[in-house]
Amino acid sequence: MTPLSPIGGHVSVTGGLAKGGLKYAADIGAEMIQVFVTNPRGWALAAGDPAQDAKLRDSGVLSFVHAPYLVNLGSPSPDTLDKSLATVRHGLLRAHAIGAKGLVVHTGSAVSQSRDDAMRQLHERLLPLLEEIPDDGPDLLLESMAGQAGMLCRTVQDLEPYLAALEWHPKAGVCFDTCHSFSAGHDLSTSEGVKETLDALQAIAPGRLKLIHANDSKDECGSSRDRHTNFGAGHIGVLPFMDMLRHPVAAGVPFCIETPGGVEKHRADIEVLKKLREGEVPDLTTVTVEVDSVEISSVEVEETEVRRTPARKTRVRKTKVRTTEIHSVEVRETEAGGAEVRETETVEVSGAEVSSVEVHDVEIGAVEIPASRPEASIPQPSTSAR
Ligand SMILES: [Zn+2]
Repeated sequence: MTPLSPIGGHVSVTGGLAKGGLKYAADIGAEMIQVFVTNPRGWALAAGDPAQDAKLRDSGVLSFVHAPYLVNLGSPSPDTLDKSLATVRHGLLRAHAIGAKGLVVHTGSAVSQSRDDAMRQLHERLLPLLEEIPDDGPDLLLESMAGQAGMLCRTVQDLEPYLAALEWHPKAGVCFDTCHSFSAGHDLSTSEGVKETLDALQAIAPGRLKLIHANDSKDECGSSRDRHTNFGAGHIGVLPFMDMLRHPVAAGVPFCIETPGGVEKHRADIEVLKKLREGEVPDLTTVTVEVDSVEISSVEVEETEVRRTPARKTRVRKTKVRTTEIHSVEVRETEAGGAEVRETETVEVSGAEVSSVEVHDVEIGAVEIPASRPEASIPQPSTSAR
């Protein structure tokens, strides 16, 4: 039997790596975790707390470390490169100390230098770092990025010269981010696209895929934009993740979410992946999708809540509607006393996917809003839609 993929997420470590991180992991139902060991937006190399390190290591929870965002191994700036290498070395040591399996690092951008020069730089400066890693130490996991020219790895194919520059060092692994790859043009929204992409990864870097960053994408395939979103809320959709979970290259490889939100959304995203792993299509009526607009043919209001936002002096009604595709829409009161759909949330129902929809104004009729209560349920308003 093929090994199942552990499912988890990037966790907050507020309160300590073990104390905060493991609690967050338990709260969201994570079977593995990814953590930052330093400020992700700074260069400071935090020493860490040996007691917390030991606790995390002894917990036996499968863990990975993500390097800070400033790291750019392709940078032509000697200062940035030195800091990047120092940060990667520090990350590898910290990962080893907490028993993490890998340090995820973005593959970087050549910025103003040529790709050849950047590759030479990887060979001369990064390869020696890989050679320092002890046999029982973490892997360095290369994560391709969405983005424009200059990026050293956007597609799966771009990993080949990068790994070659590192002489296919055994400690050089791959972290595949679904959102980045989709944005770079791998169409992961279809079964064929998933197969083609993961087959290519298998062929180019066999045995090197060690972690999957499982994120839906707010932007379309090929957009070059990197905006992660919750499952079902983006353009990849939910069902392709079932194909990914079943692909041989991903057998036993952890799926780690890096989606927006706190405990509730993270728990829901992990729940979706766990269901897919079981071969079940998740009940997505609770998974909300943000889209810019929605085309609504008929709307039936089930329940209306009133939310007051005093700061903006706008009254926003949250309305659950029922159609075949739309679970809920957010409507705003118009000056005329009607309501306009401003933002919408849609869901997949039984695998039927709404990825891009357009909203027309929808009148939901007059709803009385109690003056003093910040939030209240309002019984069935009469509705009409056009
Ligand atoms: Zn990622």
